[in-house]
Amino acid sequence: MRIVVAGAGLGGLAAAAGLRRAGHEVIVYERAAELREAGTAIVIAPNGLRALDRLDLTGRLRDHAVTAASAGLRDRRGRPILVTDARSAQVTVGMAVSVTRTDLHQLLRAPLPPDAIHTATPIDHLEPAGDEVAVISGGRTLTHADAAIVADGIGSRLRARLFPGHPGIRRIGRLDLRGMLPAPAGLDVDGLIASILIDRRTGAMFGLFPVDRNRLYWFTDSALPHPTPTLEQAKQQMLDLMRDWHPAVPALIAATPAEDVYVDPIARLAEPLPTFALGRIALLGDAAHAMTPDLGQGAGQAFEDAAALARHLTGAAPADVPSRLLRYDAERRPRANRLMLASDRQSRLTSQTGAKAWLRDTLLRAVPPRLAARGLAGIWQL
Ligand SMILES: Cc1cc2nc3c(=O)[nH]c(=O)nc-3n(C[C@H](O)[C@H](O)[C@H](O)COP(=O)(O)OP(=O)(O)OC[C@H]3O[C@@H](n4cnc5c(N)ncnc54)[C@H](O)[C@@H]3O)c2cc1C
Repeated sequence: MRIVVAGAGLGGLAAAAGLRRAGHEVIVYERAAELREAGTAIVIAPNGLRALDRLDLTGRLRDHAVTAASAGLRDRRGRPILVTDARSAQVTVGMAVSVTRTDLHQLLRAPLPPDAIHTATPIDHLEPAGDEVAVISGGRTLTHADAAIVADGIGSRLRARLFPGHPGIRRIGRLDLRGMLPAPAGLDVDGLIASILIDRRTGAMFGLFPVDRNRLYWFTDSALPHPTPTLEQAKQQMLDLMRDWHPAVPALIAATPAEDVYVDPIARLAEPLPTFALGRIALLGDAAHAMTPDLGQGAGQAFEDAAALARHLTGAAPADVPSRLLRYDAERRPRANRLMLASDRQSRLTSQTGAKAWLRDTLLRAVPPRLAARGLAGIWQL
């Protein structure tokens, strides 16, 4: 069968690779002029890694396993709230990896021949045409396909065309700043690796993960206003907010050149979609279920989508596509939508302030150490 994928992001590439491996002819159309994934790093949760295993796309990703003595939630000074030792975490939850977005993108596109990917080709519309789907860009039909996969990300134009009554995405009023830098010599971050620090005065959050052997990836989530005028100012505002945190926090932010800081207003789908499958068209990844980053599940869910699509379309003939995509929808929509809502709840939980935050920390601190890994797995929904 001929299958078109609209969008060469993490989810689109994973699906394209999986569908090609299942024996289909796959054509990917990407809006950007260049095929690349900008940004810092990404943490792939154990379930995302297992989905990549199913697509035979893991490569040497496990070389990037998050290794840390402990992992979990801490207060702004780095004191444990709900922390587990790394061994229990791995036994209970499985392995997570932390990898640069560039490396991950390269790994996912490696199985695809260069002529299967067309850049600078935004898809405007996918239109049912008899037993096929017409793929439309710039007012002209580029090709017809037996199936089309919508993988055009959080701002999906195709989702808006396919679900005209859907409200699209909604910003939650929080801002994410991210940076990646070589580990500064002499800075002691050991106790903070694989931890999320939260501040019950402001509801701000800071996370730290290792990348490769000697780089660190940090991210923050706070109620800082958007838009911030410049990257330098965004960085300065964050430094002001976190000045009295664990000393490594402001030190890492300060050591990251402003031009290497990424700023994103956090958004999610305003409402779950009623279906991920419309005839011969399926949606995946952020186009289908954009969620806040709080559970670190966005890409993981996109990979689960990709693996499910590849499996359901294995051995399919063109006539089977609508029913196979309905099975994909039935398998994936409940879980992805549940995680979308759970990410939202997690965002509200970690950004609490005042008495509610005090109660949260008190309750979490009361979790016995032997149950901490399971408690975290529950929170992170793994
Ligand atoms: C701050 C932040 C931190 C995050 N951290 C994590 C994390 O640690 N772990 C995790 O699992 N997830 C994380 N995520 C989520 C993760 O990045 C996304 O869920 C994932 O990238 C979604 O992949 P996707 O393929 O659906 O969309 P994208 O990766 O956004 O790809 C969409 C692609 O479609 C292209 N496109 C757009 N419109 C069109 C069109 N009309 N025609 C053709 N192409 C088009 C775009 O150029 C892009 O290449 C984070 C997200 C944010 C914002």
